[in-house]
Amino acid sequence: MNPIYRDMPTTIFEAMSMRARETGAINLGQGFPDGPRNDLVIDAACAALQHRSNQYPPMVGLPELRAAIADWYRRHQQLELAPDEVVVTSGATEAIAAALLAIIQPGDEVLLFQPLYDAYCPLVQRAGGIARIVDFDRSCWRIDAQALADAISPRTRVLLLNDPMNPMGTTAHPDDLALLARTCVDNDLIAICDEVWEALVYDGAQHRSLLSYPGMRERTVKIGSAGKIFGLTGWKVGWMCAAPPIARVLAKAHQFLTFTTPPNLQWAVAEGLNSQDDWIAMARAQHQASRDFFCAGLRKIGLATVPSAATYFVSVDVAASGIAMEDMAFCHAMIDQAGIAAIPISAFYSDAPPTHLVRFCFAKERATLERALERLAEALPRLK
Ligand code: GLN
Repeated sequence: MNPIYRDMPTTIFEAMSMRARETGAINLGQGFPDGPRNDLVIDAACAALQHRSNQYPPMVGLPELRAAIADWYRRHQQLELAPDEVVVTSGATEAIAAALLAIIQPGDEVLLFQPLYDAYCPLVQRAGGIARIVDFDRSCWRIDAQALADAISPRTRVLLLNDPMNPMGTTAHPDDLALLARTCVDNDLIAICDEVWEALVYDGAQHRSLLSYPGMRERTVKIGSAGKIFGLTGWKVGWMCAAPPIARVLAKAHQFLTFTTPPNLQWAVAEGLNSQDDWIAMARAQHQASRDFFCAGLRKIGLATVPSAATYFVSVDVAASGIAMEDMAFCHAMIDQAGIAAIPISAFYSDAPPTHLVRFCFAKERATLERALERLAEALPRLK
């Protein structure tokens, strides 16, 4: 058996969700929202299941959805993408896998930034790539130009960036994006941009893709997710967008991973992207309000929060909160003593992790967040 998989633990999200199910803990670990619900999109999926085709859709995605994705990016991010530059996938994780398999040749080096999503390193390795990991500056989660320059070699071919960033909920600084764009152009790299959180950027900020920076249009794979846009994480409908010479190759990798994505979900997502701009803005405002409520509550009970500008997540600085426990131990103690599941940030590092940060998902109903805060407040003296 392949040692990469044989020796790896089950993903931290699944592990913590399992513990939450076993113990009945409130699950603020794995990132999924419990609202708001978009009935139009869900009804459209039901109607399509009943009344439209349930056979293989086109391999690269339904034309309706590819056009809707291109239109949505035109309206929201001022990008000019043609429908044939879009390949629909079964979730963004498939898109990341397909992009890495399509682009990497054995021995190619891939620039990654940590904290990083747990799928990245194993996928790079299985595609034959060598991960070169650059640490974000832990005081501000920005890219250090020297560390970036030091990680590049003549074998570097690809850069994989998650922006907005899970787990810290930060958005890339425009100067960092400009630096990355220059780095890609100067070193002839392809950028794979995991932008699944693009619709969940708060405080009036506007998401800007690395694809829009000078020289990047022809060398970027931009990855998105309907699961995040509509809060339907179980649907696993994602996509990758790239200039035609790249998109054609991406499609070849996709065709031997999942081949197609359920057609009813594709029709529903197309309808949603075409008609639900107001709902998407409402959902964003609601998540922002949840963030504000939860962060204020955490601070009130004496926990130090790290600023979050996007995603479903906020992190607590355990050490700055006067808790002398490492993040993993604190997460287990929280499940056992407070009945709350969270995610240790060290799980997002391949080496030398910080151990003082714990991630909470705030995309929950107000009553759930209130109950979680009460439980935490009550258990906290025992956790210190
Ligand atoms: N993206 C989700 C998170 O960060 C997890 C997805 C998964 O469980 N694989 O919580």
